[in-house]
Amino acid sequence: MNFGGNFKHLCDADVSPVIQLVEHLTSKHWSLDVTRQQRYDVHEHTETINLVHDPDFRHMNPTKHPALDVFGPIIQPILSYIAQYYEQQAANQSLISQYGLGYFIRANIIKLKAGGIIEAHQDKNFSLAHSHRIHIPIITHEDVDFTVGDETVHIPVGEVVEINNRRMHSVHNNSPVDRVHLIVDFVIPGEPCCCADKTHPGELCTPQACMATDRLQVPCYCFPQ
Ligand SMILES: [Zn+2]
Ligand SMILES: [Zn+2]
Repeated sequence: MNFGGNFKHLCDADVSPVIQLVEHLTSKHWSLDVTRQQRYDVHEHTETINLVHDPDFRHMNPTKHPALDVFGPIIQPILSYIAQYYEQQAANQSLISQYGLGYFIRANIIKLKAGGIIEAHQDKNFSLAHSHRIHIPIITHEDVDFTVGDETVHIPVGEVVEINNRRMHSVHNNSPVDRVHLIVDFVIPGEPCCCADKTHPGELCTPQACMATDRLQVPCYCFPQ
């Protein structure tokens, strides 16, 4: 989702129970879901535990994976806070009364190996342009650099941060440790993308109506950097 900024700090969470679980994962667990690094060159240095995930990046009716049985109860307090954060906003409350409560369309635990990089890219599909992408570092190091737009930061363990995934973003793990983030995508049904009023006024966003803006084929001047 585009917004006026690069990073939006939501809160700090106690992730120590998540750290404990992640430390017990073996290379076998990490190698079960390989589609992400195979499909996308920018993710070749990553490994994933899928909790809620579909390779087709659908925007509703997500698939829950077996690992969610283990991680779900542990991450629930963090997910509840995130849902509440977005649902309590005034503009979203009227959407919720019309279209229903928000939901997590994706939740994954993603490792970026020591020395690995995620090259600069923008997220260009409908669901990623119409959901809030939130990173929660579980294991990290001060030499892991996250760049969004022209801003490079280190996000410490437990910070809950939305990133502007419609701007150029990249990650450099210049550290000796494997970085592990919980990454979730939260949807408020009916929430428009930034360009909606100009490209299809009065109509809800759909993959068809937003195709050209999702793919950045028409320039977006909504939030100048
Ligand atoms: Zn849209
Ligand atoms: Zn826009």
